[in-house]
Amino acid sequence: MSIEQKVKNTLKKIKLNKKEKIIVALSGGKDSTTTAYLLKKLGYNIEGFHINLRIGKYSEDCLEAVKKLCEDLNIKLHLYDMKQEMGSGMCYLRTSIQSSSGRGKLKNCAICGVIKKWILNREVRKLKADKIATGHNLDDEAQTFLMNIFKGSPKLSANSGPITLNIPDKKFVPRIKPLFYIAENDIREYSKKKKLPVVYDSCPCALDSYRIQVRKFLNTLSKKDKERIVNNFEKWIVRLDKKDDQMIYCQLCGEPSRNKICKRCELMKIT
Ligand code: AMP
Ligand code: ZN
Repeated sequence: MSIEQKVKNTLKKIKLNKKEKIIVALSGGKDSTTTAYLLKKLGYNIEGFHINLRIGKYSEDCLEAVKKLCEDLNIKLHLYDMKQEMGSGMCYLRTSIQSSSGRGKLKNCAICGVIKKWILNREVRKLKADKIATGHNLDDEAQTFLMNIFKGSPKLSANSGPITLNIPDKKFVPRIKPLFYIAENDIREYSKKKKLPVVYDSCPCALDSYRIQVRKFLNTLSKKDKERIVNNFEKWIVRLDKKDDQMIYCQLCGEPSRNKICKRCELMKIT
């Protein structure tokens, strides 16, 4: 089955409506670029949102790629500059967090991921969008599921899937992953075939050794195996105990959170 048909089926499964306003979180990489390209091609109402992380030349290239994509697709692009909005780029912010006592072991990608998610939900809500679309693919999802199992916290994956499964909340923008069932290699091939403006280099800060280890292991398996991991996990999700999965608001920033203080403020308050 073609990528386009698989994505169409995924969007049908999550009942995405063509009238909904969808903001695609664009990193400049192949996955989110392909997500935007396909959503537009299939007739969805999309706009782009890019966070300039200010990681030197890499960020400059990503910004260029994202601008080119939005011009080509004729869609609106919203830009968020970390330096302007938060006072520093991701590298500086991350290093300050890691140099605070007890936080030295926190992985680069984990910190960056928490901050990006926080920015995305808050900014996209202000834009009155119905959904956020990200470029997460089959390989990302299989890695995350396995990592959560290896760490003994399968419940961390409970809200995962091609659409977030949280209890609806007015401050939380549901997230969708149109490429949830598409393997990374197929996306790379497709984006090259379509000559999409993509930065193929990986982020220079992506040194999360555990994810790299799990990724290496998964790459010794076939695509079918990765699909089985993701599909089987989806079956278990419904059985995971979600009774204490309540959404509350962070006491410091007011954003939706699982705990009294959200993960982002937990990181920021010790800097
Ligand atoms: P990552 O956390 O880098 O694996 O990225 C996962 C998804 O988050 C990507 O597919 C994008 O949809 C989104 N994303 C990552 N980086 C950015 C960024 N700088 N600006 C906007 N969205 C991003
Ligand atoms: Zn907070």
